[in-house]
Amino acid sequence: MDYFEEIAAMDRRSVLHPFTYLKDYASGKAGDPVIVEGGQGVRITDSTGREYIDGFAGLYCVNVGYGRTEVADAIARQAHKLAYYHSYAAHTTDELAKLSDRLVRMAPGNMSKVFYGMSGSDANETQAKIVWYYNNLRGLPRKKKIIARERGYHGCSVVSGSMTGLSFYHDHMDLPVSGILRTGVPHHYWGSVPGETEEQFSGRRAAELEALILAEDPETVGAFIAEPVLGTGGIIPAPAGYWSRIQAVLQKYDILLIADEVITGFGRTGSLFGSTLYDIKPDLITVAKGLTSAYVPLSASIVSERVYKVMEDATDRVGSFSHGYTYSGHPIGAAAANAVLDIVEREDLPGQAAKRGAYLQSRLRESFAHLPIVGEVRGVGLMAAIEFVANPATKERFDPALKVGPRVSQACRDRNLIARGMPHGDILGFAPPLVISESDIDQMVEITGKAIHQVMDELTKAG
Ligand code: PLP
Repeated sequence: MDYFEEIAAMDRRSVLHPFTYLKDYASGKAGDPVIVEGGQGVRITDSTGREYIDGFAGLYCVNVGYGRTEVADAIARQAHKLAYYHSYAAHTTDELAKLSDRLVRMAPGNMSKVFYGMSGSDANETQAKIVWYYNNLRGLPRKKKIIARERGYHGCSVVSGSMTGLSFYHDHMDLPVSGILRTGVPHHYWGSVPGETEEQFSGRRAAELEALILAEDPETVGAFIAEPVLGTGGIIPAPAGYWSRIQAVLQKYDILLIADEVITGFGRTGSLFGSTLYDIKPDLITVAKGLTSAYVPLSASIVSERVYKVMEDATDRVGSFSHGYTYSGHPIGAAAANAVLDIVEREDLPGQAAKRGAYLQSRLRESFAHLPIVGEVRGVGLMAAIEFVANPATKERFDPALKVGPRVSQACRDRNLIARGMPHGDILGFAPPLVISESDIDQMVEITGKAIHQVMDELTKAG
């Protein structure tokens, strides 16, 4: 056995992989693991030396691209200087203080403080606890329910997984927990009635939200959580007028808005934050992924002055803020984030994402929107999706057993492009590093075209 065969055998024996058909992997039916060995720019290399364009930036996270030595150097510098100290009880590091000052200034709305975790999931878990804490401190102990959206994705832990609106994240796992309510997904393509404009559709979604709040009793609803652009649920930009109408409802009933910017934070939509793009004024903001471009795990729950003030004012009554992780504000994470945000600012990655994003969106539309198996090509900035349907005129879906989305994704991969078969529906997703060039986009589009035509031919042959 050579070295990598041994690694594959070890992996199969010992790693419990996320989102994997366990039996197929254990038995070898699903093939060998892809052992990723290197990365540079928008490309990764596996242990056989094969190079792929990473059209999904890992999991929409390696925004600055692979192999940025200045980030690696910042991590090494901090590790040599001080690999760890905690941030409990007023301990800090220079990198942590600088990062927090910077995030408060960068973030939209009137933000005040930053709490750190290691993942988007735990940051949203923190947001839920802050909502409950805030309303307990205000003497409103009933105001605790959190409204999330169908097909929203907020993580996999107990409360964040419950806020996630995709049933396969709940099945057999005893989720969702109580106190999480669900409202409709703002996807005009599937959700609108014939002749309904985006504005009218947004108005209907806002009216549904208000009806839900009234039915539940506004005194029991504490927060609404949403991604500015839906990610894992299908890469769905907000329809026209959606955010202004939703925010008006939330304000009317004193309901906090948690903007889950785990994907959209730090430039992916072409704006620094998704909230900036849609003029969202959040009370709480969740960031992760792009914060360190995934060079090390780090997430943050950013808290507005409105919420923080209540927390601070209650100190004499309730004592310390009793929430925190061993690794909250880890100095290596903070150093990595500062190095990454330097790149985001210096290279104007939001501007890059706007420019390259417009190019990607137009190339995808002109190349694929007219195809007989394409229902919708959509996206914003460097987040894009192609949704496949059996009949675009009637919007008839493919039989899920045909696995059209996963097959196109596999056909891309066979041609050395990673484009994600999204977990809900026949949707191919793109979210490349923000440093992608036009010629790399051309290559992505060319490969995608070949992949789609391959699957179209197979479908035709199968009748
Ligand atoms: N929120 C959003 C919008 C996400 O896209 C994700 C992950 O994809 C999460 C939260 C969860 O983040 P993590 O996987 O780091 O727990």
